[in-house]
Amino acid sequence: MSTSLQQPAADLQPARAQDFREPRIVGDCGSAADGPTLLVVAGLHGNEPAGVRGLERIFDRLRADGCMPRGRLVGLAGNRAALEIGQRFIDQDLNRVWVAERLADLRGGGERMTTEDREMAELDAIFARVLAEARGLPFLLDVHTTSGPGPAFSVLHDTLLNRRFGRALPIPIVLGLEEELNGTLTDYFTELGAVALSVEAGQHDDPRSVDRAEAALWIAMDVAGLLPEPYAPELESARALLEVEGRGLPEAVEIRYRHDISRTPGFRMMPGFRSFQAVADGQPIATDGTGTVASPQPGLLIMPLYQRLGDDGFFLARPVRPMWLDLSTVLRRLQLERWLTRLPGIRAVPGRPGTYVVNRHIALWGPRRLFHLLGYRRRDHSPSHLVMERRPEPAVHGSEEASGGAR
Ligand SMILES: [Zn+2]
Repeated sequence: MSTSLQQPAADLQPARAQDFREPRIVGDCGSAADGPTLLVVAGLHGNEPAGVRGLERIFDRLRADGCMPRGRLVGLAGNRAALEIGQRFIDQDLNRVWVAERLADLRGGGERMTTEDREMAELDAIFARVLAEARGLPFLLDVHTTSGPGPAFSVLHDTLLNRRFGRALPIPIVLGLEEELNGTLTDYFTELGAVALSVEAGQHDDPRSVDRAEAALWIAMDVAGLLPEPYAPELESARALLEVEGRGLPEAVEIRYRHDISRTPGFRMMPGFRSFQAVADGQPIATDGTGTVASPQPGLLIMPLYQRLGDDGFFLARPVRPMWLDLSTVLRRLQLERWLTRLPGIRAVPGRPGTYVVNRHIALWGPRRLFHLLGYRRRDHSPSHLVMERRPEPAVHGSEEASGGAR
């Protein structure tokens, strides 16, 4: 039934033979011929093993029952070399490298200079095989944890299908992070036309993060349509666990500010902050080489940095009313973008379908917000102009059904 992923071919072995404690393939259960494929990657950051432990629990349970989901579940460990030493990455962040040029270079036999090049080449080869065997829309879940404390939440590229995946989990959705981060794995899979979501399952070493990761996995299997009925009790307790912790949190938030620390050494969050904590305009929340860092606007703190590696000190978000989510679903289905260039200050880019340049001095009302509603992301910007690009929206027959129980 299951294909040969458990025995990686010789060309999947790293160029420099190394043996790591974490196997690449955490599990591979079921068959792509029997239903949808859900690919789960955990530990893409080496100091985030909770997702790998959550995956092991799922596979232990599935194997005990004969390994028979209604489709195929593949679980992979991300950055094995970094997991070995419990560090975010060795040479480069493995969740910022998934861009076309780099992949083309690796596939073309380009020199694999860094530890992460080798990790990426191995993962890429496995992805290619799994995706080639998948029937219908494949699903990707990328499991992470955060250095600071806080509840579980999801991060997605705002296509309608990804959003349905995200809304099926009873945890807040964070929108707009993808405009701040380049080369993430979910970005790459969304561009490939998959349904992709990443979940932040809590603080790195909190044992409850393993529970949250496991819960998210049960629900993701259900959303993808993989879960046979005997697992209803697991699904119910997974929902209950995440619902209790998510009580009182907004359904969705959008990122309004990123605090980039790549050029300012010495950044330190003050102790005691957590994700989704409200902070006031001007409230001191960190220090760096220049002194005190105050919050530049009121908002909800997202992912305050309490570790050495990383370029993002913290993010600030604000709640998105569910009405806006519903409105944007309707607007996208109506394909209103045909009318965009009739608005002042907005023009299409010749030769680049789905791309518009906005003159910020001329455009009338919140152009970025309008484009977000219609499913566009910011690709580039300057004080005077914005470049907005449409996210790929897979047009596959039966795609609504492919999302199964997603709302
Ligand atoms: Zn991570």
